[in-house]
Amino acid sequence: MYDGRSDAAIFTFWDDGVDEKLTALVADARVRAAAAADATALETLRTEFLGRKGGKLSAVMAGLARMPAADRAQFGKDANEAKAAIEEALDGASARLDNAALAGTLERRYDVTLSAIPPRTGSLHPLRRTLEDIAAFFRMRGFAVIMGPEVETEFYAFEAMNIPKDHPAREGMDTFYLPPGTLLRPHTSPVQMRAMQTYPPPLAVIVPGKAYRRDALDASHSFMFHQVEGLHVDRGVTFAHLKGFAADLCRHLMGQDRSTRFRPSYFPFTEPSAEIDISCGVCNGVGCRVCKGSGWLEMGGCGMVHPNVLRLAGYDPEEYTGWAWGLGIERIAMLRHGIDDIRLFIENDPAFLEQFA
Ligand SMILES: [Zn+2]
Repeated sequence: MYDGRSDAAIFTFWDDGVDEKLTALVADARVRAAAAADATALETLRTEFLGRKGGKLSAVMAGLARMPAADRAQFGKDANEAKAAIEEALDGASARLDNAALAGTLERRYDVTLSAIPPRTGSLHPLRRTLEDIAAFFRMRGFAVIMGPEVETEFYAFEAMNIPKDHPAREGMDTFYLPPGTLLRPHTSPVQMRAMQTYPPPLAVIVPGKAYRRDALDASHSFMFHQVEGLHVDRGVTFAHLKGFAADLCRHLMGQDRSTRFRPSYFPFTEPSAEIDISCGVCNGVGCRVCKGSGWLEMGGCGMVHPNVLRLAGYDPEEYTGWAWGLGIERIAMLRHGIDDIRLFIENDPAFLEQFA
C-alpha cells in the first residue's frame, strides 16, 4: 500500500538530506532549549528555529518546492512533527524556568528551618475540670459517683424531696413542665432518692448533672446549669461530719488558707439546714466588690436529711441519719477562675476555652 515514506526512500535522487536536517534541527533545538538560562534566551531560540522569515525550520522547508510532488505530503508531515517537537522543547524549558523561579520565591518567603506552628488542641471545659476536681475529692473518701435521668417525674422532683403539692418551693423552682407528670429536673436531688431506694444503707454517693429552670439568660442566670450533690447515710452520722466534709471540700476547691462558716437556712428536704460560705479570696474577708462587701462567698446549701425523705426511701430514720449537700458547678468555676458571666460557659468561644487548656 502506498504510504509516501517508502516512496521517499526509493526516490533518493532528489534527496538533499532534508530528513537528516529536520532530525538535526530538532536535536539542536532540544539541547539549546535545555541549556537556556532565562525567558529572553528562550524567545531568541524560538525566533531562531521557528521564525517565519529566516527561521531554521523555514529554511529547511524551502526545499519543499524542489521535491517531487509525491513526497511533498510526507515531508510536510515530517516538518510539522519537527515543528511540534521544537515547540515542545521550548515550552518544556519555559516551564522548567517558571518552576525554578517559583521555587526561588518560596525559598525567600519561607524559612523551613523555623519550628512548626503547633496544632490547636482541645481541652477540658472549665465546668468539667471543676466537676472532676470535686469527684476526685469524694472518690478518695470512698464515695460513688452516680448519674440519673434529666427528664424526671413530679414525684421524684418534688414529693420525694419532701416538697408536697402547693408547697411554695415548687413555685420558686420555675420548672420546665413536659407532658403530664414529667418535667426537666430543676435540681439533681431526685437521684439521691433513686439511689436510696436502690441500695440499702450505708450509702455514700455524689450526684453530678444538669438541672433546668425557666430563668432568662443573663450574666448570673441560665436556663440550664450544673449541680453536684453529696449524700452520706449511715448509723451515727452527725452534723459535725457534714461540717468537716463541707469545710474540707471548700478548701480543696478554693485554697487551704480559706475559712468557712455555716449560716442557718431552710430546705424542705433537710433538717436542720445551712448555707456554707467561704472567706473571699480577693479581700481575705475584709469586704470587696466580688463578695459585695461581706467578706464571704456562698458555696452551697446543706443539711441533715429530713426524716420524711429517709422514710420514703425505705430507711429507718430512728436507726439511720445522713447529711446532704449541694452546689452549683458554674458558681464554683466562676469563683475559682474569676469568671463574671455564666453565659461564657455555653458560648463555646475558643478564645475563652483555650485559657483552661
Ligand atoms: Zn471580697
